[in-house]
Amino acid sequence: MFDKILIANRGEIACRVIKTARRMGIETVAIYSDADRAALHVQMADEAVHVGPPPANQSYIVIENVMRAIRETGAEAVHPGYGFLSENPAFAEALAAEGVAFIGPPKGAIEAMGDKITSKKLAAEAGVSTVPGYMGLIGDAEEAVRISREIGYPVMIKASAGGGGKGMRIAWSDDDAREGFQASKNEAAASFGDDRIFIEKFITRPRHIEIQVLCDAHGNGVFLGERECSIQRRNQKVIEEAPSPFLDEATRKAMGEQALALAQAVGYTSAGTVEFIVDGERNFYFLEMNTRLQVEHPVTELITGIDLVEQMIRVAAGEKLPFSQDEIRLDGWAVESRLYAEDPYRNFLPSTGRLTRYRPPEAVAAGPLAARGNWLEPAPEGDRAVRNDTGVHEGGEISMYYDPMIAKLCAWGPDRDAALQTMREALDSFEIEGIGHNLPFLSAVMDHPRFASGDITTAFIAEEYPDGFSGADLPEAELRRVAAAAAAMYRVVEIRRARISGRMDNHERRVGSDWVVALGGAEFAVTIEADRAGATVRFADGEEMRVTSDWQPGATLARLDVAGAPLVLKVEKRATGFRLRTRGADLVAHVRTPRQAELARLMPEKAPPDTSRLLLCPMPGLMVKIDVSEGDDVEEGQALCTIEAMKMENILRAARKGVVAKINVAVGDNLAVDDVIMEFE
Ligand code: ADP
Ligand code: ADP
Ligand code: MG
Repeated sequence: MFDKILIANRGEIACRVIKTARRMGIETVAIYSDADRAALHVQMADEAVHVGPPPANQSYIVIENVMRAIRETGAEAVHPGYGFLSENPAFAEALAAEGVAFIGPPKGAIEAMGDKITSKKLAAEAGVSTVPGYMGLIGDAEEAVRISREIGYPVMIKASAGGGGKGMRIAWSDDDAREGFQASKNEAAASFGDDRIFIEKFITRPRHIEIQVLCDAHGNGVFLGERECSIQRRNQKVIEEAPSPFLDEATRKAMGEQALALAQAVGYTSAGTVEFIVDGERNFYFLEMNTRLQVEHPVTELITGIDLVEQMIRVAAGEKLPFSQDEIRLDGWAVESRLYAEDPYRNFLPSTGRLTRYRPPEAVAAGPLAARGNWLEPAPEGDRAVRNDTGVHEGGEISMYYDPMIAKLCAWGPDRDAALQTMREALDSFEIEGIGHNLPFLSAVMDHPRFASGDITTAFIAEEYPDGFSGADLPEAELRRVAAAAAAMYRVVEIRRARISGRMDNHERRVGSDWVVALGGAEFAVTIEADRAGATVRFADGEEMRVTSDWQPGATLARLDVAGAPLVLKVEKRATGFRLRTRGADLVAHVRTPRQAELARLMPEKAPPDTSRLLLCPMPGLMVKIDVSEGDDVEEGQALCTIEAMKMENILRAARKGVVAKINVAVGDNLAVDDVIMEFE
């Protein structure tokens, strides 16, 4: 076994690999850029080597810099994580040339699977079902139209070198095909330096279901069940689960066997993933093979009890797989939520800044991992598990240079309902402040009846949130529970205040028992009767709710029991109440005496400032292109400028027809949120 390995990555995946290596008694070397000097993966590793300035193409993915770090530290093997150099055959070759082990597949397999056209051909030869389409290259837009017609609309136009959801377009008509061909080609040239395009049938009502495979260098291979990854936004995964709520045992077995056949056909070793698209009749078609550890691998670990990173390291060291296919058991259900530093209320634009608060829910281990000597630290606790794979820490900076994913929160339960319930509570107790993030959106999806039913496709987010996300609306019954909690909590605050003001004798009496809670557009008049153990809140219609909690004024998280069920609230004190966040809803609760409530009803509503004639910068980033000049007429939807943040180019467009009066910034400027980019007449 290796004594020392280097992790050629950053963020959560670097931390994840370090954990397993440490458990195996292997020393770890981190690499870092200028932006990551204080990053968590650097703190966790035994050694760390600086590899360059913040942009990844000047540090993390410069092969020579990584090789230098290996030579300096004497690392015997390299785990590449995902992204970065993980699927780069030149890197695998550079390592081989110096006798350093690559904790991943052989170079030949990376090459064969790295290209979508080549891999599709190989898959077809190995007897794997592939998406019907044209396997050749396409020369120009007219040829794209002709081939699209032959395949039959709708079709998917794809870049052969594509990845990360880039370089693909759906076409429903000849015009779409013409435009899509050009758009994919341009995007592929810019992102991958390779503009080869192919076309295949667009599978309607598609689900993305993938198979985890694991092979050693002695000819042994297993498949470890599937992951359902249909909850995607713009072809990027957001929520994944294992198993899939859609597969039956026969389909699972057929997909697993085909995935393994493909892996063996290309001489695969290590962990890999074969992605399939599955239609409404459970027909499945090969999409691509990812020759690396996948972002969502933890859900597979949670239902199999197998540490995939450990197996990757063992396989790279030449060991045999310690289990055979018939020893693999899938136990229970696991779900993963990807926490992105992107603001759901601003059309999911990336968000950067300092994490003023970062408190993930406590990890809990149970299920297969605990039963089989798992690598998570906490002891088993009942029928649930919570695991958070993270690469950040409180006080840390989320920079604009890297992927916006900051953590992966996983929940396990004996069945799907239990896993989802554990996830809901874990999301509610996750405290993140200082940056925009998608926690409320994840909570809303967990509570969405269609998601909860398992009836999902890759179009779920686009169909269910066509106008974006503006916060979840709580059902009336839930709103009442929050109102009861707010009233009981406010009463505690008022008693504390009365006590501090010195009137020790009668503070309980000075705080009345009648309150009016204004919340989510509704008003609830309540009467509170408190005792030592909690409070009973009575609504005007006679409904009573018992509220108990150990919450204290000043605490930012309240775990309550309201009307016999748990309720977790994120709490911020406001002048006459609280800002309360739960289940994807972001509410201000005003708690007033009946007299104050009467007066509040007479107050005029404050109008927000009019910013409709300004183009405000929605995220911190670099201005890379300005498409208009002062005095220009612009049409609704016209591109105005492009801002680069977190490796993504974001085009800002005109909200309506108008005339550009003034431009306040220049190309190359670094911008902050709400900087005024342009003004309109
Ligand atoms: P997974 O299938 O493991 O979920 P993703 O497609 O979400 O993988 O990508 C995993 C990571 O790798 C992400 O950080 C993504 O940005 C990055 N990535 C994937 N493909 C490419 C590529 N061709 N070039 C650069 N980064 C990529
Ligand atoms: P990437 O390398 O960017 O991950 P994939 O080929 O894996 O590209 O496709 C990404 C996503 O796009 C899939 O998860 C699926 O949602 C969708 N997709 C790809 N091909 C098709 C298709 N032929 N029909 C329907 N959806 C598709
Ligand atoms: Mg893919």
